[in-house]
Amino acid sequence: MKRRGRFAPTPSGLLHIGNAFAALASWLQMRHYGGEFVLRIEDIDKPRSRPAFAEQCLKDLRWLGLDWDEGPDTGGSHAPYAQSKREAYYEEAIDKLIELNLLYPCYCSRSELASIASAPHGLSSEGAPYPGLCRSLSSEERERKAMKKAPALRFKMPRGEACFMDGITGKQCFSGEGLGDFVVKRADGMFSYQLAVTVDDAMMGITDVLRGSDLLDSTPRQLALYEALALNAPDFAHIPLIGDEDNPRLSKRDKSITLTSLHNAGIAPERIVGLLAYLAGWIDRPEPVKADELVASYHTDCLSSGNLVFTSELRAWLFDGASQ
Ligand code: GLU
Repeated sequence: MKRRGRFAPTPSGLLHIGNAFAALASWLQMRHYGGEFVLRIEDIDKPRSRPAFAEQCLKDLRWLGLDWDEGPDTGGSHAPYAQSKREAYYEEAIDKLIELNLLYPCYCSRSELASIASAPHGLSSEGAPYPGLCRSLSSEERERKAMKKAPALRFKMPRGEACFMDGITGKQCFSGEGLGDFVVKRADGMFSYQLAVTVDDAMMGITDVLRGSDLLDSTPRQLALYEALALNAPDFAHIPLIGDEDNPRLSKRDKSITLTSLHNAGIAPERIVGLLAYLAGWIDRPEPVKADELVASYHTDCLSSGNLVFTSELRAWLFDGASQ
């Protein structure tokens, strides 16, 4: 069986160097192992997504030297490749979870939850764990609340320890209580990232999910959904985030490091790939390199220890190339 990987950007902004690193690494993983690479646009959050960003994303990735075997523009046997066109599949999964009695309606408002959440939650991609207020409402209480407000649907995250083997950082364990019951469908009808990404990766036959470590604690949540829906789970691997001397993570607001602005500044894509390859330990010093020149030597040996630092020297090196 061929391995299948994917890059799944959210078109709510332009791709930046951090996104490019995730795209390059997952592309290299597939090209190195002779697998197939899928591009999927995660535009489930319609108000935040823009078709223009999705289009630019495809252009930026091609400019960087990446290609894909299946995607929104190339098509493929797992189409459609945009989440906004896959809602029927998410609804099916919701129906199945309801049948299994694994969801419950939640009437809590954001502000109610914010006032309860006192625990630090900086590490969770979902915010503070849900305190479970609506998990055990009586049917009368549910009916009463339902008259005033449409509910979100929450998944009953299994209690106890949830461990998985990360392909880069090794064994990772989380507590089900610490992760909490998460939303799979919002009160306004929007399906959540956790649900959509799980359904899509499963239906698209993805065998390898390689993505940034900001999504590390999403993995036990998604694995719980795979288990509940009796779907085959892929192998997961998380790459470090790229930060600078002051921040563990590059700011999304730093417009100077979007691929589009680097392109417009006259920086060659080989220079961006060279910078990323140097940070990842695929080459010994920063030098321009093409993405396909890295395929043979791809490895993840240097990616298991902490964040990568885009130093001011490296920034100067990158921008030095602007006039060349
Ligand atoms: N769409 C997500 C993002 O852009 C990535 C999803 C994933 O790789 O699982 O952050």
